[in-house]
Amino acid sequence: MCGIVGYIGDRKAYPILMKGLYRLEYRGYDSAGIALVNDNGNLSVYKAKGKVSALEATVQDKDISGTVGIAHTRWATHGEPNVVNAHPHYSKSRNLALVHNGIIENFKILRSQLEKNDFHCISETDTEVLVQFIEYMQDIHKCSLFKAVQLALKNVTGAYAIAVIDKQNPDQMVVARKGSPLVIGVGKSENGNPEFIVGSDATPIVEFTQEVIYLNDEEIAYLDRSGKIDIITLSNVKQTPQVQQISIDINELEKGGYPHFMLKEIYEQPDAILNCIRGRLDTENKDVFLSGVIDNKNVFKNARRIIICACGTSWHSALIAKYFIEELCKIPVEVEYASEFRYRNPVVFPEDVVIAVSQSGETADTLAAIQLAKSKGAFLYGICNVIGSSIPRATDSGTYLHVGPEIGVASTKAFTGQVITLMMLGLSIAKVKKTITDEKLHFLVGELINIPDKMRWTLEHNKSIPEFAQMFTYARNCIFLGRGYNYPVALEGALKLKEISYIHAEGYPAAEMKHGPIALIDEEMPVFFIAPKHGMYDKVISNIQEIKSRNGRIVSIVTEGDTVVGNISDRIFSIPDTLDCFVPLLSVLPLQLLSYYVACAKGRNVDQPRNLAKSVTVE
Ligand code: GLU
Repeated sequence: MCGIVGYIGDRKAYPILMKGLYRLEYRGYDSAGIALVNDNGNLSVYKAKGKVSALEATVQDKDISGTVGIAHTRWATHGEPNVVNAHPHYSKSRNLALVHNGIIENFKILRSQLEKNDFHCISETDTEVLVQFIEYMQDIHKCSLFKAVQLALKNVTGAYAIAVIDKQNPDQMVVARKGSPLVIGVGKSENGNPEFIVGSDATPIVEFTQEVIYLNDEEIAYLDRSGKIDIITLSNVKQTPQVQQISIDINELEKGGYPHFMLKEIYEQPDAILNCIRGRLDTENKDVFLSGVIDNKNVFKNARRIIICACGTSWHSALIAKYFIEELCKIPVEVEYASEFRYRNPVVFPEDVVIAVSQSGETADTLAAIQLAKSKGAFLYGICNVIGSSIPRATDSGTYLHVGPEIGVASTKAFTGQVITLMMLGLSIAKVKKTITDEKLHFLVGELINIPDKMRWTLEHNKSIPEFAQMFTYARNCIFLGRGYNYPVALEGALKLKEISYIHAEGYPAAEMKHGPIALIDEEMPVFFIAPKHGMYDKVISNIQEIKSRNGRIVSIVTEGDTVVGNISDRIFSIPDTLDCFVPLLSVLPLQLLSYYVACAKGRNVDQPRNLAKSVTVE
């Protein structure tokens, strides 16, 4: 959460920083701010409550000159979202400005220490102590900014990615990270001069350069306008910068004609899934090749158990994977909320494989969960979308989703990407463990490769959802029900509706209704059933009858051509037929569309729902 961007080079910093902030806005939008060393040598800080557009309006008549600057879009953790608490924060002398992503856990202790030395914070944030402490270090040690940052950070507990500029030394910028992400783009301006663009992820960078350095935890980098870069660790070990190539298509970061990123990402799913399976599913021979499993064949063969750690939507995809992997691989799978797992001293054996699922690859709790599992000797496997992010770098092996950048805060294509990736993982493990026959493998892969076309069909044949969503806006509560593979889809449908339309929704295993929630049913309560012609079809029909006889309003996701469920439902949406285990990849699509259109009908900010941010880099 929180987006950081920085620039130093020979171009005007302001437009680059602003564009970067817009790209990072998905990470937080409580406030935005920018600091520039202007051409006249002043250090100007401009801030606004709310969105980046509010900041843009604020700086209209201000001096925005300068070729070095930092900027921030905030998701507040400490201190309400207002202008004073917005980043960047000045140091006491106003010579330094700093932006931060993370939480400084010992900020109260540091603040009282600073106060005793006449350094006073004016904001309520945990962040401001950092910039004051850095200046305090400069004062006592008469050292460079680079050294002062290192000395200050040695006193800090918590998580941070920071960027600091100094008006007395406008040819340098210092950045550091521990627990929060930071990427340094190494580029050249139109004049051929060196430049650095810093970002919380690569999205503000890719337009200018494909060469990046991923800063590691406890590393501090000094970036000089001449192109020089020095990296040291907190414990003073010099590091050699490792430049890597990234490739992100800049068009993937734009809305491409859609009104919202979420809708674009919903419609992208057939192609995103094709990209995800490319080179992994052999369409001709109906086979699976996942290098992460092939390279670690024996680990998977001998695995005693699989534990999947995830949060939010990723946790739902993990639950689908549990059903699939247990069925196919005959290996116990446990699905854990990373935030619970990391703090409850779980039993982990060295023969366990622990899988981390996270779109951003930066989810703080998931990262901490796998660090705990590593300390207990387990083999770590990462399933993430963002290339070069922290989880892939912390795991022994893994698979990228390759579904392209997901910007909408409500996850859609990353969910289906995770589900299909986990299924490819299951198929690969079953193959190495020989728990399925070749015929069954070919059969399953043969159907899996049809999924992108079936997704396309689903998106094209549910054109009445926008009109239906209009009628649905009256709802204050609603329930999503499914059984087997579609129980996690019910959870996901409820989460989607909650997060972007703010309608209270619950997902339940359909048979559990009788154990309590059925008491909520009346003629006002919409109930969504995921009721494909598979699995426990007849049992789901009985569950629908139970709701119908209590006058609930029933909306069902059915297999194309189904009339039985259609006859007892108030409304149906169809998906093409597929195998029971693959239904979630299709049944979730009408639910994504529904939550999108309900949120639009209620006038919600779909891509930036209140109180949320995309990449949860704080615990
Ligand atoms: N803790 C800082 C604040 O509240 C940064 C928050 C974040 O990175 O999400 O301003």
